[in-house]
Amino acid sequence: MKSSFLFDGMLGRLCRKMRLLGYDARLAGAGESPRLLLDAEREGRVAVTASIRRSDRPGPAQIVLRRTGLAAQVAELFGALRSRTGEPPLLEPFTRCLECNVPLEAVPAKEVSGAVPERILDRCDRYVQCPSCRRIYWEGSHWEAMRGQVSRLSARLAAERLIADPAHPRIRRSADGGEHPAEGADGRHERD
Ligand SMILES: [Zn+2]
Repeated sequence: MKSSFLFDGMLGRLCRKMRLLGYDARLAGAGESPRLLLDAEREGRVAVTASIRRSDRPGPAQIVLRRTGLAAQVAELFGALRSRTGEPPLLEPFTRCLECNVPLEAVPAKEVSGAVPERILDRCDRYVQCPSCRRIYWEGSHWEAMRGQVSRLSARLAAERLIADPAHPRIRRSADGGEHPAEGADGRHERD
């Protein structure tokens, strides 16, 4: 079964990156850190932290990241996951809301008019929506930028021999056969 994660509060950017790649990734809130392991165990998630002192604590296994830099941490996380569970990286980009961590749902173009700028309606016919925050995502220039991010991460994972070939990573397409877009209606951008 595909792993899900509970990230220590200081790993917010990494948490969003894993959502971008399609992983169920929850970020511990303020004050939750001391019970990270207990919460992770209760929720059936893998606890992930970069805090060295946590690694000394007894309790269920967790992943303690030593590397710095987002791409390096993504690779380290997948490496640790594979040695723990044998699970290879499975990238399902653009399938999960970056803000709410819930799966996006396809929504017909006719249902987004009014919520999406006219210029977008003219050129896009595929939309997905977050059932929680109702944010609508579509293919746009920003989607291209995020595709670039996913390609670079794939190349990195291939370089570390975590996936076989950067040109053909294990990327699962979404249910309707398309990769999903990620340009938020509110113009918020992911910056890595
Ligand atoms: Zn959302």
